[in-house]
Amino acid sequence: MPSRSENSPNIQVPKSEANVIPFEPHDYTDFHDGDDGGPELPLINTFDIDGVIFMGDEFTGVWPGPEDIIITGRSITQSDETLSMLRERGIFNQVYFNPLRRNDPEYSREASGEWKAKVLRMLQICYDIGIHFEDDPIQIEKIQQAKLDINIVHLHHTLTVK
Ligand SMILES: [Mg+2]
Repeated sequence: MPSRSENSPNIQVPKSEANVIPFEPHDYTDFHDGDDGGPELPLINTFDIDGVIFMGDEFTGVWPGPEDIIITGRSITQSDETLSMLRERGIFNQVYFNPLRRNDPEYSREASGEWKAKVLRMLQICYDIGIHFEDDPIQIEKIQQAKLDINIVHLHHTLTVK
């Protein structure tokens, strides 16, 4: 049986400088919000879906701006139906879904809040987050416990079920 190398096409990759992709690892410690002379990060807001963007089928909810980011407690397994609903409403923003399945015993409003706090902390590397819009007091508490220096606007209503 021929060895693997005998079957493989003999591809010669020229070792010219044109094939060298320059890579400079980025120093994330150089990211600032402008307060101490570093570059300004883009100012965005972040939005929960249910009870914020989605206020039920018969209403329009709060609309994110074009650069804003959506962070939902909805499971990643609900991404197709959720993205369809958003697109029908003309909303095409980036969405972070909860990685837990709905039937995961860990799935809860508390876990969603903790996960949102993690996403927000990650996003703060690249963005200055002005306001997170949220309707669930349990999740608000979890986000506040993470001490992220992000304003949270609590939308208080009974149009959707928590
Ligand atoms: Mg909600």
